[in-house]
Amino acid sequence: MWGSVQTVRGCPKHCSFCSVWRTDGQKPRQRRVADVVREIVALRRVGFRFILLADDNFYPVTLADLAAARRRSDGHHLAGLVQLRQQRFGLMARLEELPEDMVFCTQITMEAAEDAEFLAAMRRARIRGALVGVESVTSEGLKAVFKNFNDAGEALVGRLQAFRSHDVHVLGSFIFGLPTDTPQTFEATADMAQRARVSFAQFVMLTPFPGTVDFTNWERTMQDGPTVNGIPLTRYWLIPPMERPHSGPRRAERAKRCWQPATGSAGYQGRSPWLVSDQRAEQES
Ligand code: SF4
Repeated sequence: MWGSVQTVRGCPKHCSFCSVWRTDGQKPRQRRVADVVREIVALRRVGFRFILLADDNFYPVTLADLAAARRRSDGHHLAGLVQLRQQRFGLMARLEELPEDMVFCTQITMEAAEDAEFLAAMRRARIRGALVGVESVTSEGLKAVFKNFNDAGEALVGRLQAFRSHDVHVLGSFIFGLPTDTPQTFEATADMAQRARVSFAQFVMLTPFPGTVDFTNWERTMQDGPTVNGIPLTRYWLIPPMERPHSGPRRAERAKRCWQPATGSAGYQGRSPWLVSDQRAEQES
């Protein structure tokens, strides 16, 4: 059973489908390390060994952010970024001191793969797993959701494998239904997930939540669009599930097939990362 603790709130990115930066803001704020550790220790005392660090982006300051801030003459901004980065390392150093049987996982952008120092600190802190929002395996798809900071193609494979080489198992999260998707997208995405050696993969349908950029654009373009019992499709949550239009059996079957390696006997990587010892993980990588 997992306990969960949030350590930082807010994300500086602006992905078009995401509600996080609209609700929590784009200025990341880390909680005091002592408060986070106190909460984790309290969870440990009642029996939780597995802790989800329930942050939307565990890596809120990238090396590119620091380089860009250094180029600008805004020393105040740079100092804020450096401080936040140090706070992240401070938190991981404290996690490292917790009982050795504790295991953590989180959510993170793939930019962390460029930062060997950060990945090494994650390994020492026993952050054994991370959901990485891959979203699309093509640069066109990433551009469509304002996620150009992700890599596509072979560079993407390298990025995801970098996590694994630091003993951080990746849950790759992919979105179907982007405007740039084609019938080939399903197979290309599943193929990429396997080549990148992700431990788990999830394939979700693009769902524009109210308040997101995607939702605003969708409502604007669907002003005279179809309705179900008088309810516009853009207000899909008001339409009973059985009455909502579906994507058709062929597309549904293709999407379902992508899950097969994850649910079949082999799995994407075959077994629970939470049980993998350091030594066995080293043998694998
Ligand atoms: S999808 Fe992730 S990186 Fe993008 S805005 Fe949301 S939390 Fe940030």
